[in-house]
Amino acid sequence: MARTAVVVGAGIGGLSAAIGLRRAGWDVTVLERVAAFRPVGAGLVLQANGLRCLDALGLGEAVRMRGRADASAGTRRPDGRWLARIAAGDLERLLKTSAIGIHRATLHEILLGALPEATVVTGAQVTAVTADGLVDYEGPAGPARIAADLVVGADGIHSTVRRLMWPAAAAPVHVGVRAWRGVTPPWDGDLAVAFTWDRGAEFGIVPLVDGRVYWFGAVNAAPGGPAGDEKAQVQARFGGWHEPIPALVAATGTVLGDDLACLDEPLPTYVLGRVALLGDAAHAMTPNLGQGANQALEDA
Ligand SMILES: Cc1cc2nc3c(=O)[nH]c(=O)nc-3n(C[C@H](O)[C@H](O)[C@H](O)COP(=O)(O)OP(=O)(O)OC[C@H]3O[C@@H](n4cnc5c(N)ncnc54)[C@H](O)[C@@H]3O)c2cc1C
Repeated sequence: MARTAVVVGAGIGGLSAAIGLRRAGWDVTVLERVAAFRPVGAGLVLQANGLRCLDALGLGEAVRMRGRADASAGTRRPDGRWLARIAAGDLERLLKTSAIGIHRATLHEILLGALPEATVVTGAQVTAVTADGLVDYEGPAGPARIAADLVVGADGIHSTVRRLMWPAAAAPVHVGVRAWRGVTPPWDGDLAVAFTWDRGAEFGIVPLVDGRVYWFGAVNAAPGGPAGDEKAQVQARFGGWHEPIPALVAATGTVLGDDLACLDEPLPTYVLGRVALLGDAAHAMTPNLGQGANQALEDA
């Protein structure tokens, strides 16, 4: 009889783990608290390590087709001067694969499409987990329980599985950075991947395959700063930086703003009995490392 796994959370890490487990012959159920997936989030950069994992899951080609790989890249100053440049193709020569800029929703859609529909149960919020593999959840039809040989806690930075199984573990901490993210409509003109640095502030530009542009801005700031119009805050902070930064922000509809947090005290182990943590649930890191999704893929 096939071994059974319950994966808690259908983010990038949870779906990848489910795909990998199925390829290894396991019976998998993914429990996801949201009732329906919406195209939320902004862009991600998949690096060589994440792409190798997607290759191992049989999805590397599908992702490369829907991501953008051919951009040149570099670091700039707010007045636009380049500090360093990498020509298109150089990363690929060095690492044997290029980095791919992709919308998180596109990657999520590819992963979800690689699983049979019945594998992922939405509207299922996990409320209790035991080391011997019992999982309680509030499901679409009311409270339910599953017994599994393996439980994978892939439920993100505010992980319920981590809180229940590792009660002494430190909670996420704010890192003193406010970050904004956005995706423009299709953009006229060829853009490089560029990271612009100033003291205590950074702005990143990542062109996507369909002409849209993912951007982020980050500034050193205590959590709980001024609420209100996120776009206006980005314009106030980055409006004087080199083009196309002000134009990209002006062209963006929804701007997402977050006070960044991470898990800064590593757990002694990510495995307890039949339960294992992965991705942000295990080791949430700050986005400037560009590795959150990539390391979730490695874990999977
Ligand atoms: C909505 C969303 C948008 C994001 N957008 C970006 C982005 O634009 N750019 C970027 O770089 N990173 C983004 N991230 C973060 C990035 O995707 C993650 O750092 C990385 O992919 C690691 O993913 P993960 O699978 O470990 O966790 P997550 O992607 O956080 O996924 C965790 C999943 O678990 C579910 N969940 C949580 N608690 C429970 C519970 N009790 N029961 C059942 N399910 C539960 C959540 O609903 C979520 O779907 C986003 C994350 C989320 C959730």
